[in-house]
Amino acid sequence: MKNNTIIELDNVNFNYGHTAVLEDISLKVENGEFWALIGPNGSGKSTLINIILGLLKPDSGTVKLFGVELDSFKHRELIGYVSQKSNSFNSGFPATVLEVVRSGLTRKRGLFKRFSKNEELKAIEALKIVGMDHFSGRNIGELSGGQQQRVFIARALAGEPELLVMDEPTVGIDQQNVSSFYSMLNDLNRDHGIAILLVTHEIDLVTDLATHVACLNRTIHFHGIQSDYKRMNDEKISKWYGHPVRRVHQHELGAEE
Ligand code: ADP
Repeated sequence: MKNNTIIELDNVNFNYGHTAVLEDISLKVENGEFWALIGPNGSGKSTLINIILGLLKPDSGTVKLFGVELDSFKHRELIGYVSQKSNSFNSGFPATVLEVVRSGLTRKRGLFKRFSKNEELKAIEALKIVGMDHFSGRNIGELSGGQQQRVFIARALAGEPELLVMDEPTVGIDQQNVSSFYSMLNDLNRDHGIAILLVTHEIDLVTDLATHVACLNRTIHFHGIQSDYKRMNDEKISKWYGHPVRRVHQHELGAEE
């Protein structure tokens, strides 16, 4: 399905009871873009993602996916979703990495159909993209949080989505592996043309990778290209974030080299 606009939100409002959680949200994600959706805890990020995934209905406003109104949208397989809770299998969980990735294909075919060779190759291809093909026979529970998260991304990729939605994907990943995880996402976006919507409360790291940034705290306080986000001063960012923040600048990161 080729449509340049993947997500289009227009004046979306959402309340839990009498509490307004999302107010007047308008946002457009185009083909091939990498968006970081940033906001503090409780700012409405998960609610917004649930609306995009069709799990919650907005009280007003319109949501279009791939140019089609949410109510009529039938091509859920175009959207791959990786939640922050994915990477928490314990060591006894009885499934191999390949089985987990192949389960990303079952939705289309019914749970008990046998996989064709072609589909197995697709699963291996997806594992290659995330750098995990040599782990295909290992038990999922034996992998680290970061490795499991890569496998869950491969699982989402096996369904050949055009958009990958991720909710705080670095939770549970060791700090020293976070940057290689992010650079894998960068390759995914740049080399494979997959649009990404990544939700995070981190105001620094991801914005070096994302092509676009949206700052959410009940309403959208800023949305635009990465360089404009970087040019914004910390004071302005602190204002929408709700408490003082100071971003780490690129030259400070390189200071120890
Ligand atoms: P975030 O993902 O940015 O942490 P959420 O979308 O989870 O934010 O929550 C936004 C607001 O909605 C918070 O104030 C939260 O307490 C409230 N909220 C979330 N889920 C529910 C619910 N099921 N019922 C009532 N309020 C909720």
